[in-house]
Amino acid sequence: MNEHDSGRIAGVLQADGLVATEDAAQAEVIVLNTCAIRENADNRLYGNLGHLRPLKEANPALRIVVAGCLAQKDQGAIQRRAPWVDVVVGTHALPRLLDLLRQAEREGPQMDVREYTEVFPSALPARREVAHHAWVQVAVGCDNACTFCIVPLVRGPQRSRAMGDVLAEVQGLAREGVLEVTLLGQNVNTYGRDLTVPGSSRKPLFADLLRAIDGVEGIRRIRFVSPHPHDFTDDVVQAMATCERVCEHIHFPLQSGSDRILRAMRRSYRAERYLAWLDRIREAVPGMAVTTDIIVGFPGETDDDFERTLDVVRRARFDAAFTFQYSPRPGTTAGTMEGHVPPPVVGGRFDRLVDVQEEISLERNRDLVGATVEILVEGTGRKGGAQGRTRTNKVVNVPGGLDPGTFADVEVTGAHPHHLTGHLAPVPVGA
Ligand code: SAM
Ligand code: SF4
Repeated sequence: MNEHDSGRIAGVLQADGLVATEDAAQAEVIVLNTCAIRENADNRLYGNLGHLRPLKEANPALRIVVAGCLAQKDQGAIQRRAPWVDVVVGTHALPRLLDLLRQAEREGPQMDVREYTEVFPSALPARREVAHHAWVQVAVGCDNACTFCIVPLVRGPQRSRAMGDVLAEVQGLAREGVLEVTLLGQNVNTYGRDLTVPGSSRKPLFADLLRAIDGVEGIRRIRFVSPHPHDFTDDVVQAMATCERVCEHIHFPLQSGSDRILRAMRRSYRAERYLAWLDRIREAVPGMAVTTDIIVGFPGETDDDFERTLDVVRRARFDAAFTFQYSPRPGTTAGTMEGHVPPPVVGGRFDRLVDVQEEISLERNRDLVGATVEILVEGTGRKGGAQGRTRTNKVVNVPGGLDPGTFADVEVTGAHPHHLTGHLAPVPVGA
């Protein structure tokens, strides 16, 4: 979501005539787009602002902007701690960025941390990092209340974009040459609960949206993040199974394998139900890759709870996992819970989890050696050669130069926990 918002911030500034620079000393405007999900992001903001202070002192015309979730969370505290910040723009106020910059020039420091999204940032111009891929926001905010999570506090309740608006955006992107879209929402499968279909009392569903986008000429791959296991319904599985362009990858956040901890997290599924869902999804969509998010060291997590997480990880056989050490966030229910786990214990559990998952990731990737996979080239790999992604979201490195945005069939020859290697598959005679 932050990458999406950063693309919009860059797009707005470029449309106003600015050009990007890698050199902070040359910049007229510097925007720090911030994340509040864990505490180290907080600490980094004030460290980064400290580094920018001498630049501002040397060049008073420089405008420093803090945007995103920390702007929404810390509000006036940012300019109190760092009075050289010119603009604080919260998550709902992004469309006001240029106005705020102009006002700051005339009147001094500005802040807009309104509580409600009136205009979706999707309406703003965007700068895309790669020409063939685009993030498409389908909803902002979240109606859940997972006890560890600050998102509902800084992004507000869920608001879905009208299906026609999302579809029009994707059609426009396809006309610009975009081949792959990633649909974004904190809980994509509750998309539409706050909308009605014009002329009926029916609510549009996420599966309807997938089907509609599957019909957009020119879009070759559709991805989405993240579905919440609690709201995952059969119609989404069916849409994934039948929509040709919807990729065989699902990010399905587990968070914990212990039912006791899931209950304390206010995640309303349980471990066995989660695993049963995975079986159903894998049965309906053969070759489906599954990734997840897991938090280690939630308050009150015992060794036994953690062993249950490891057990689910072994049974689920995820292709990859984003693993997080629990970080207390202000304003969340878990932040004031008893039983915070000592950091060395959290660290030890975290390392064990990463080891177990890396082994599984490697095994899953080894299963692909010898197979031919389609990649969409994204750029150059770290060791030269081309780097692309499979439909299952696996990174593949191949020797030789291929332009970003081209599709290639690759024979997989090597497997690592986080990527595959291969070479271009021979083109069949007559193809
Ligand atoms: N909406 C998504 C869902 O329901 O799974 C999650 C979005 S959140 C931005 C991304 C991930 O950050 C979460 O899945 C969780 O694993 C992690 N996370 C959120 N709050 C955290 C916290 N306080 N400490 C550690 N990790 C956290
Ligand atoms: Fe946070 Fe996701 Fe839970 Fe919403 S569903 S509160 S974004 S973890």
